[in-house]
Amino acid sequence: ASRVELPAFDGDGRLADGHLVPLLSNVGSGEDAVAAAEAGAQGVGLLRTEFCFLGRDKEPGHDEQVAAYKAVFDAFGGRKVVVRTLDAGADKPLPFLTDDSEPNPALGVRGYRCDTATPGVLGRQLAAIAEAAESSEADVWTMAPMISTPAEAARFAAMCAEAGLKTPGVMVEVPSAAVLARQLTAEVDFASIGTNDLTQYTMAADRQLGALAELNDPWQPAVLHLIKATADGGAAAGGDGSPKPVGVCGEAAADPALAVVLVGLGVATLSMNRRALPAVAAILKTVSMDDARRIATLALEAGSAAEAKAHVRAELPDLD
Ligand code: PEP
Ligand code: MG
Repeated sequence: ASRVELPAFDGDGRLADGHLVPLLSNVGSGEDAVAAAEAGAQGVGLLRTEFCFLGRDKEPGHDEQVAAYKAVFDAFGGRKVVVRTLDAGADKPLPFLTDDSEPNPALGVRGYRCDTATPGVLGRQLAAIAEAAESSEADVWTMAPMISTPAEAARFAAMCAEAGLKTPGVMVEVPSAAVLARQLTAEVDFASIGTNDLTQYTMAADRQLGALAELNDPWQPAVLHLIKATADGGAAAGGDGSPKPVGVCGEAAADPALAVVLVGLGVATLSMNRRALPAVAAILKTVSMDDARRIATLALEAGSAAEAKAHVRAELPDLD
């Protein structure tokens, strides 16, 4: 059993030294958004817009999309909502957009890549997001999944601008994006690391295969090095100006010990299932930024996921 007392979550992610780490929620529908707001999330760090598209045989119309996005925005008043554009393909096939005969769907036309194979769907989605944003108070940020190159990031930013969306960003889920994070984030306003896919692609271990669970673990030090590279790249991308914020929205952010490591690696915000918010907030309150950095270094220097986990847990006596 955990020895950490879990007070009602007050929406405040804060370290022992007062350093703020906004804690946001991952959301997959309007109802989910209402529940996350009630749970005290400071905003939405990942709106999975697939909820509007999955199980359909054709693209939902403009008005339907506007209403679906607006329901989420309205649940969060004037707070931040990060919308991820449609992530079809691989584990999320869509009959009108993805090709089920691809030999390796995880390495195929998925996420942002669908826009080259089937132009139009992404542009129409951005127009619907923009209209929903305009008619709500929320601070709407928009990001694309499965971005692999700075050129893709630049093109997505241009599409957002064309739609009238102010804050474009990218997900970092592919190792090439993490390695080139400075050049990539220079093209946009922010990045959010999807550790589920970043782990699968770094370790070449299918996220859907239970037999590969040991490899498919965000505690793998190789994955942690790529998270650090992304945070460092975002910090450097602003040059003398403001750094580009880098968050995490994969499942890793919901693991309290790993959340401490992520903060120590330079991650600015954490987005997670709303049920994980109280435990993550509680452990963050027990460490300073200096502690988190030192603990993150222990994880980076480990030779295995098990060793990283053991070294970090030994430094966090308030965990079970
Ligand atoms: C991820 O890959 O970590 C992520 C947040 O996106 P999804 O799980 O929806 O692929
Ligand atoms: Mg993903």
